[in-house]
Amino acid sequence: MGKLHFAEQFAASLLCEHPSAEGFACEQCKPCHLRKAGNHPDLLHVQPAEAGKMIQVDQIRQLLQACNLTANYSGYQVIILQPAEAMNNNAANSLLKLLEEPPAKTAFLLVSHQPMALPATVRSRCQRIDFNRAAHDTMRQWLQTAAPAQSDVDLLLKLTQYAPLSAHALITGEGFAKRQQLWQSLAQLLLEKADPVQIAMQWDKLEAKNVLGWIQSWTMDFIRFRITSQVQWIVNQDFRDSIQRLATQIPLADLFKLLEQQQAAFSLLQGSSNVKSQGVLENLAIAWQRASQVTRRAST
Ligand SMILES: [Zn+2]
Repeated sequence: MGKLHFAEQFAASLLCEHPSAEGFACEQCKPCHLRKAGNHPDLLHVQPAEAGKMIQVDQIRQLLQACNLTANYSGYQVIILQPAEAMNNNAANSLLKLLEEPPAKTAFLLVSHQPMALPATVRSRCQRIDFNRAAHDTMRQWLQTAAPAQSDVDLLLKLTQYAPLSAHALITGEGFAKRQQLWQSLAQLLLEKADPVQIAMQWDKLEAKNVLGWIQSWTMDFIRFRITSQVQWIVNQDFRDSIQRLATQIPLADLFKLLEQQQAAFSLLQGSSNVKSQGVLENLAIAWQRASQVTRRAST
């Protein structure tokens, strides 16, 4: 949705020596140059050490020390903390002290995907700015100019649940090509042309969480088609014909089981860094092949 982009722009504006009348940073002054190089001493970012982890109390204590120093430049000190709901209780309590008696000319920008997950005490000390989803037409127009020519912007938006920045990242990064590769390997698996262990090795190279996300999306499409027999409900429209064909090979009950297995696998990988993703993916590849009716007939 661009919440973090907004926070970055806001910070840039506060730090800039000559912001425009609309409030945009000039991008030319010394503070702007320092910020763009990632070296502005008055701009601090607080985020989990690793994606999916919590913000620890030590990180807030360090922030406390930094805030006690005066700004290096004449303007503001700006702290961008995100995602704010990732603060553990101790971290949130520690931050609360800062928010209750904020140092002069210091702006705390808390970016949160789930503001209700923040302690009420922290929320009550903040000014809340809500970011609502833009209209589909607005997103489509933006993506048409931002994405490479010939991109299927409607498909990209659907695939990312209408999150325009994710849609943009999907087509400009490697995401879209990887998805294509993954789809081919799943189709191979279902048509019995591949060894599940080999396939799981390929999947692991594509990053387990992404693999699970895409396969989950296709499982939903298989189910949608099995239940409605209508292609219009398929989200992954670029694979519509194959989804239609393959969906009939897998019993509906098995599709629901796969959906559950994938959800459990996702939680398992999310919860611990010690879990071997390849093992999880191997189990999944085997389950998909077993569910395919072609395999079942062949083995009896
Ligand atoms: Zn500037």
